[in-house]
Amino acid sequence: MPELPEVETVRRTLAGQVVGRRVQKVQIHRAEVVRGDLRGEAVGLLEGDRIREVLRLGKQLAVVGDHGGVACVHLGMTGSLCCGSDKAMAGLKHVHVVWEMGKNRRMWFRDPRRFGGIWGFASEEALWGQRWNKLGPDATLITPAKLQKALNRTRRALKAALLDQQVVAGLGNIYVDELLFVTHLHPEMPADAVNRALAARMVRSMRRILEQAVNAGGSTLRDYVDAQGQAGGYQNQHKVYGRKGLPCRVCDRTLEATVVAGRTTVSCPVCQPREGGG
Ligand SMILES: [Zn+2]
Repeated sequence: MPELPEVETVRRTLAGQVVGRRVQKVQIHRAEVVRGDLRGEAVGLLEGDRIREVLRLGKQLAVVGDHGGVACVHLGMTGSLCCGSDKAMAGLKHVHVVWEMGKNRRMWFRDPRRFGGIWGFASEEALWGQRWNKLGPDATLITPAKLQKALNRTRRALKAALLDQQVVAGLGNIYVDELLFVTHLHPEMPADAVNRALAARMVRSMRRILEQAVNAGGSTLRDYVDAQGQAGGYQNQHKVYGRKGLPCRVCDRTLEATVVAGRTTVSCPVCQPREGGG
């Protein structure tokens, strides 16, 4: 599933291609992927509007028109939002919505498994009021104080709390496992044991990991591609995610997989001790 670095890579590669272009027509091929207030309405999905900017909060994108309309896109498990010529889109299956933007230029939402979707809103205020205000701060912007406060509200395992989009928006299984490894934290450490100094260290590491991953174009495991159809390269830099049974890159001990918060979790038993992480 695309996480913050993948979605940010889509945002950057898309913005350069669509900002300033007018959406002449919106084709909805599968109505149920369009949700929210303006459900199923092409006009609510920026038809007739010029694209002003592409925003991101956590794992969600919002394409904003210059009349204020918003198409909020969640890529889900297998979704992609791409932009290109008629030829680039020709022959693709599972294309559910197409934004026609003039001469041989279109943006399309494709999602084979349909866990993603598009929410149309009449304004940015409506987007925030109905959807984005329910999320925690973006993982690239959260402060140590806010992270500590949100984590200290729960006794859940640290991994479970970090996956919760209301605590911090943008992290998923890949980047939580990577963050816990570089901060030497056991995935099952209680979230309410995180003090201010540790929260500050987590914020620094989180920003560094996310920045490196964005610079590498995100992680491609199966389906993820950016808005121009390119795969990411950060999967080659993962320290623990996807490396069960392989030697730890720091201490050489075999990495172990457990299940925490219902998710496969890979960690190092030496670098991430259960007691007294740090
Ligand atoms: Zn290790």
